[in-house]
Amino acid sequence: NAYLNNAATTPVIDEAIEAMNDVLRHAWGNPSSSHRVGYAAKEALEQSRATIAECLGVDADEIFFTSGATEANNLAVRGACMARKGESRRIVTSSLEHASVTRSVRGMRREGWDVEHIEDVAGNFDMEQLHRALLKPTTLISVMRVQNELGWLLPVPEIVAARDELAPSALVHCDATQSFGKLQTLPRDWGVDLLTIAGHKIGGPRGIGALYVKRGTQMFTNAFGGGQERGLRSGTEPVFLAAGFAVAAKKACENREANLAHAYGLKARFVEGLHDAAPDAIVNSRDDGSPYIVNVSLPSLFSQDLLDFLGERGIFISKASACTENHTTVPKGTWRPKHPLSLQAAGIPLKLGKSTIRVSFGFDTTVEEVDLLLQGIKDFSNMG
Ligand code: PMP
Repeated sequence: NAYLNNAATTPVIDEAIEAMNDVLRHAWGNPSSSHRVGYAAKEALEQSRATIAECLGVDADEIFFTSGATEANNLAVRGACMARKGESRRIVTSSLEHASVTRSVRGMRREGWDVEHIEDVAGNFDMEQLHRALLKPTTLISVMRVQNELGWLLPVPEIVAARDELAPSALVHCDATQSFGKLQTLPRDWGVDLLTIAGHKIGGPRGIGALYVKRGTQMFTNAFGGGQERGLRSGTEPVFLAAGFAVAAKKACENREANLAHAYGLKARFVEGLHDAAPDAIVNSRDDGSPYIVNVSLPSLFSQDLLDFLGERGIFISKASACTENHTTVPKGTWRPKHPLSLQAAGIPLKLGKSTIRVSFGFDTTVEEVDLLLQGIKDFSNMG
């Protein structure tokens, strides 16, 4: 088998499973309870928070657990804006954001906020458009670090520099879901105020993520209730998920350089081999992007047919981000844009949409798996 869909999710590493088992057996209490059972859970939760903070180079009290990146992104956009309703009521974001940002921003627009999308065609984020955009008073800038379909890097530190110069009162939020644990992700060095991460892209469990909130940043909550996570995210904390997340994050961050070198090798091997496997292939990813994500258009085939063919061989890739795949029943062979921004916004012609695949590597992906995929693409292409 070759699981090459790690940008969608990753298998949970053994160490995380063990840590979660341990918490479920021995620290299963409610962290808010004022007795020994609760204290044990609280201690486990705070240890996990400290570990994740350390990976990011921030303080533990700047980390707020959420149910995942989606919730962290919703909270970042809505929570930052709702706390600043008296101000400019304007959001600047990129045209390549994940739906959890895009749709949160759209919600704010429905409430009367002004929104501007900065173009990023072929991986060239339009800094000039950003500079013009920031001449108007701005409340929030929300930009991702690694684009989840294409692996392109957005110039977050440069965007922060533009904010500092032109719109110093604007907050910067970064969705670092595909960056954390894989590429260096340092919110303080970058100068962002809010940063989203998730556990399941790096060998942790699904259902947990976190929002970094720079100390002193006023935020409004999206989840009302018992006041957990210092009022920002009510709901009894899933202590075992936090433990699994922390273990996976620590391992990923400790091995980041070695993992990265390995991923660059896999990407190079795949891209090189592709010219032989499918001579008309167009690589949409960039050399300077994340090596964990390779996006390719194969104009002479339908990606779903290729996925079916590969799937029978136990090779798993994706044709579009899993977040929006298969939510509606679409007859085989037809293709519909996932959401209005998708690949078209990135400058990939609409007609290639149905022929575009995403291959995403994990820390344990082997060259043999890459070769299996290449052979599969070649065999499928040769079937005519
Ligand atoms: N942002 C990005 C960049 C992502 O890749 C994803 C996952 N596809 C998310 C947000 C949402 O993550 P989750 O489904 O874990 O909430």
